Amino acid sequence: MFRVEIDSDLCSGFASCVDDAPGIFKLDDSGKATVLVPQTDDERALKAAKDCPMAAIAVFDAESGGRVV
Ligand code: SF4
Repeated sequence: MFRVEIDSDLCSGFASCVDDAPGIFKLDDSGKATVLVPQTDDERALKAAKDCPMAAIAVFDAESGGRVV
């Protein structure tokens, strides 16, 4: 299980995370990404974190707390 966080100070609204994992991320009214499901086992969260051009997405192992991406 992964825990997904977004640093909204870094997010610039490119929305590649929404393209990669539309069930996990969406853009809010301010054009910044929000996490719909903070805990997930969906590996698309890892791809979204890797693809984010601002490195605004962090993915942690929900049990150990260690950063995965
Ligand atoms: S890909 Fe990164 S910068 Fe773009 S909306 Fe998602 S979190 Fe924000």
